[in-house]
Amino acid sequence: MEMTATPRPVVVSKFGGSSVATAERIRRVVEVIEGEPATMRRVVVVSALGGVTDALLAAIDDALSRSGQHTERMLAVRARHEEMLQMLLPAEARAEVEDELSAIFSELEDLLDGVYLLRECTGRTRDAIAGTGERLSAPLVAAAFRTAGHDAVALDATGLIRTDATFGEANVLFDETYQLTRERFEALPEGQVAVVTGFIAATDRGVLTTLGRSGSDYTATLLAAALRAERVIIWTDVDGVLSADPRLVPEAFPLPQLSYREAGELAYFGAKVLHPRTMRPLLERGIPLRIKNTLNPAASGTLISADTLHTDGHVKAVTSIRDVGVIMLEGSGMVGVPGIAARAFGALAMRQINVLMIAQASSEQSICMVLREQDAEAAVAALQQAFAHELDRGDVSGVSTLRNCAVVAVVGDFMRHQPGLAGRMFSTLGRSAVNVLAIAQAASEMNISAVVKDGDMMRAVRALHEAFALVRERINIFLIGTGVVGAALLRMLRELSPMLLEKLNLNVQLVGLANTRGMVTDLQGIDLDAALHRLEQEGYAGGPTRLETIIDYLMESGLQRLILIDATASNDVAHRYPDLLDQNIGVVTPNKRANTLDQAFYDRLQRAAHKRHVPYFYETTVGAGLPIISTLNDLLRSGDRIERIEGVFSGTLGFLFSSLDNGVSFSEAVRTAKQRGFTEPDPRDDLNGEDVARKLLILAREMGFRVEREEVGVESLVPVDLLDVPLSEFMAKLDEYDEPWRARIDAVRAEGNRLLYIGLIEEGRLSVRVRTVEPASPFFNLRGTDNIASHGVAERCGFSREGVL
Ligand code: ASP
Ligand code: MG
Repeated sequence: MEMTATPRPVVVSKFGGSSVATAERIRRVVEVIEGEPATMRRVVVVSALGGVTDALLAAIDDALSRSGQHTERMLAVRARHEEMLQMLLPAEARAEVEDELSAIFSELEDLLDGVYLLRECTGRTRDAIAGTGERLSAPLVAAAFRTAGHDAVALDATGLIRTDATFGEANVLFDETYQLTRERFEALPEGQVAVVTGFIAATDRGVLTTLGRSGSDYTATLLAAALRAERVIIWTDVDGVLSADPRLVPEAFPLPQLSYREAGELAYFGAKVLHPRTMRPLLERGIPLRIKNTLNPAASGTLISADTLHTDGHVKAVTSIRDVGVIMLEGSGMVGVPGIAARAFGALAMRQINVLMIAQASSEQSICMVLREQDAEAAVAALQQAFAHELDRGDVSGVSTLRNCAVVAVVGDFMRHQPGLAGRMFSTLGRSAVNVLAIAQAASEMNISAVVKDGDMMRAVRALHEAFALVRERINIFLIGTGVVGAALLRMLRELSPMLLEKLNLNVQLVGLANTRGMVTDLQGIDLDAALHRLEQEGYAGGPTRLETIIDYLMESGLQRLILIDATASNDVAHRYPDLLDQNIGVVTPNKRANTLDQAFYDRLQRAAHKRHVPYFYETTVGAGLPIISTLNDLLRSGDRIERIEGVFSGTLGFLFSSLDNGVSFSEAVRTAKQRGFTEPDPRDDLNGEDVARKLLILAREMGFRVEREEVGVESLVPVDLLDVPLSEFMAKLDEYDEPWRARIDAVRAEGNRLLYIGLIEEGRLSVRVRTVEPASPFFNLRGTDNIASHGVAERCGFSREGVL
């Protein structure tokens, strides 16, 4: 057979530290690679076993400080590798690898002892020590492949990747690297699995260098470019590059596809998945890179390639960098003087201070530089020194610093040529009450960054993620009150939410649940089946709920489309509606309190809701399940003039009068109503007419009347003598009133009429009282707890009959 047929296509797979942290995981690596077609040349890049690089760096610090720990630390690393060896390999296969590891450990020991003796560690020595982890892991993984019956070899990347001598994060010499790698691989059988050390490289004199923390990704793409691989897969422990940091944004989701540039931007902005330089070797040949989860290989992960997926939102992801400071160089003497910026950056560069972002006002009166907080002090000193002369003369008025800042950025290829995008970004921040300190957008237009206070960062990222990156319209609900209404609502949500998601693409999430005894919150959404249970288990443990805690949570959540459902009858909650509406938080409630406080408060509520188009819905405050308020508003909007509203607005009192008609005594009727849950805990709260008065007040205000509660005439059914007695006494004494009520009912019935408790709005007056109803009235046949309202509609729209809403 002809050996020099077309070379096999190459696939490079990289496994990070967590993917090789245990023997179990290393076996998983073998399985994953077995999943790649054997007709391909399989190259595997591995990091050090998880945590080992950190342990080695800590050992250096121990040696430097002579803490006496460095040997112990090294021995722990050694023990870990030896244990792995036992677990992975059969006895007869161990000796060879053991010798290899042993030699590396004695080198490591010498190096650490050297640091200890000299109390000094050069960049070169540091790289030699830090790079040991990969030199140890590759032989182990290769041996695991052999144990599973594969031909496999461990390769040290110091023989493949050439760099300059910038220790800590060396610069790759591409041509040499590609050539060396190709030559080395040409000498190996194509069917052999090559397990290559990540992270490390060497200078042309053979001195070990490293590619920077997390540099193994870069190793993988360098090898891929050298070998013209068909694809690169980076195996990690997350489902790909996420739309935001999941610790900040619980709803963050894996991005299916990114361009190289987008991935580069995200890596730069600390999306921990990729080393920033990773994409560079792939660009020229357009080699695609996929990020996949070792623990969830079925998930498709993120594909990074020359193409990008066009999304409607244009923005792919929201990222942030914390712990930054802003340095401002200010002064009128800087106007029109060329070279100021160059000198400023020069001064910072001399001290190795990296500038993350710059902004200069076109008036040239100030230059603002964003850098790592830890560099801020040195930066100020550098600038003060560089501009000492200008400071003296007053041309530069000062160098000032803003600390505790963060950069938030939206990133996406299709942000280019999208007018209004920046507007949307900043209006989103504005609506979330995030103050923007500085802004930058590069001409590439694929990233807009804003500096904000660290305390605003989480809110900013969440709001932006919601505004731009959302896959599904999510509606976030916070429910206060778990009584009859609240519990019923939870049941309804549970039944309806699958339909809402499927038919309307609405993802309704309960992000908080509270009653007086406690509260639970969960930005990811509380499972509706378990909601009440969680409230009792977790929520009650936290003690009674303070309204302020709920309000703070709502305001700080940064969630968009957030709605408070107030299923309480609380005045205190009602008082906070305007604040919530002002913050773009919707309110939906059957609580009548807010709309029946004074007229000025009602006006304020309506204004707040209208101004920002925030939902404020209270349909069920009147007429229970009947759509009375919306019908009334529809009539008003279509030009009708409502002359009169009349109705039985209380199911409780409807039941009372039906019972009286059926010959039941007054006391018995009240008792039964109470027993069957038709009344408030104290039936006087229904009998006093207050509830009906409130409903009437709401309807009148909807009609445009300006009216206060005191102006509603109310006939209370609570006997004056029983107004202030305890509940038990009230219930006990009720039968004293059975006779008078019986007489009153019988008299009306003798005429063929009925008595009902009616609310009436007529000629601008509101009244609530017991009225005689004739058989012609639409209410005459009303029975039980039915609610009914009727209205008279003005002549000018053509019908003057009475109808039933
Ligand atoms: N082991 C190195 C580190 O932890 C390189 C890598 O994991 O990619 O930074
Ligand atoms: Mg690592």
